[in-house]
Amino acid sequence: MSTKDFLEKDYYKVLGVSKTASADEIKKSYRKLARKYHPDANKGDPAAEERFKEISEAYNVLSDEKRRKEYDDARSLFGGGGVRMPGSAGGGYNFDLGDLFGGGSSGGGGAGGRLGDLLGGVFGGRSTQQRPRRGADIETEASLSFADAINGATVPLQLAGEGPCKACMGTGAKAGTVPRVCPACEGSGQASRNLGSFAFSEPCKTCRGRGMVVDDPCPVCSGSGRAMSTRTIQARIPAGVADGQRIKLKGKGAPGERGGPPGDLYVRVHVASHPVFGRSGHNLTVTVPITLPEAALGAEIKVPTHGGMPVSLRIPPGTPNGRTFRVRGKGVRRPDSTYGDLLVTVDVRVPRDVNGQAREALETLRKLAPGDDERDDLLRRAKAS
Ligand SMILES: [Zn+2]
Ligand SMILES: [Zn+2]
Repeated sequence: MSTKDFLEKDYYKVLGVSKTASADEIKKSYRKLARKYHPDANKGDPAAEERFKEISEAYNVLSDEKRRKEYDDARSLFGGGGVRMPGSAGGGYNFDLGDLFGGGSSGGGGAGGRLGDLLGGVFGGRSTQQRPRRGADIETEASLSFADAINGATVPLQLAGEGPCKACMGTGAKAGTVPRVCPACEGSGQASRNLGSFAFSEPCKTCRGRGMVVDDPCPVCSGSGRAMSTRTIQARIPAGVADGQRIKLKGKGAPGERGGPPGDLYVRVHVASHPVFGRSGHNLTVTVPITLPEAALGAEIKVPTHGGMPVSLRIPPGTPNGRTFRVRGKGVRRPDSTYGDLLVTVDVRVPRDVNGQAREALETLRKLAPGDDERDDLLRRAKAS
C-alpha cells in the first residue's frame, strides 16, 4: 500500500461510511459487508472476491487510528477524494520527453512533437499540450513607397497561419455540438500507470491527452480544431526603413495557445525607388545640374528637398564637377528622432552648340584662361617616369 493508493482509493466509500464515522460505525459496517462478500458465501464470483479484498484493505487502514490519520492527512494534502493525481504528486515520476526534445512544438508536428507521438504511448510526450504555448514567429514581406519608407506607414499585411478552426471555434466538435469531458480521465488528460515501483503519468488513451472527447467531429477540420487561415493585420512600419531591411514587430506573430504569449512578426521591406532622390542610410541623395559659369564663378542655387520646400545652396567659385554638398537635417528621420542630411552632388553641364554672344564669350575665355600649361606638365611627367 502506498501514498498513491491512499490518494486513489476512497476507503470511506468502500466501507459505506462518512469521513467522520466513529471506530464503532466503521467496525459495524465492515462486518456487515465482509459477511456479504465473503468468498465462502460467493463461491466462483470474482467480482465479489475483488470487493472483499477492497473491503479488507479499507478496514485495515481505517480501523488503525494511526494509519487512518495518515490516510486523512495524505488526502487533504493532495486534494484526494478519488481524483487521480497526474505527475509526481503520488510519489511517481512524470517523464516529459516533449520538453527534453524541444517539445515547444509538440502541437505543431515539429521534431519534438513527432518524437513525442512515437513515444507518447509509454512516456507521455504529449503532456506539453496542456501548457501555455508561445505563438510562432512569422516572416513576411512588405512593399513601401519611397515616401512611406521615410515617413513610416501603417500597412495592411496578410498573414497565413494555423489557428483555431472557425467552424468549430477550435473545439473540434461539429457546429451545434460540444465536446464532453473525457470519462476515462475525468478531464485531466492524464492517466497513471504502474511499472514496477514507478508510477508513470501518460496521456489518456481515450482522449489522447486532450481531456475532452468529441462524438461528432467538425467536418471542416476533421476534429483537430485547427485550420489554416489568413488574417490581415495593420502593421506599423517605423520611419526611416531601408530597402531590404528586416524589421521585427514584437507580439504580431501567431497568437499563443492556452494563454501563451504571441510570437513576433518579421517584415522584410522593399522600398520603391524615387525619380529624383536616392537613399544612403539616413541621408538622401540628389544630383543637381549647374552651368559652367555657375561652377566657375560661384552661385546661389535652389535644390529640392523631399516633402518640403526647396532650399538655397551656395556653390563656391571654382566648384569642380561631381562635388557633393551637405544640407543638414534634410534627410531621413532616425530612430532617435534626429534627421540625416541631404547630399547634393553637382553635375556641371558643358554647353553644346554654342552660338552668337555665348560663342564669343567662350572664345575670349579660351584666350584668357588657357589650360595648356598644366597639360604640358602632365605629358612631361608621364614621359619622365
Ligand atoms: Zn481522457
Ligand atoms: Zn473545426
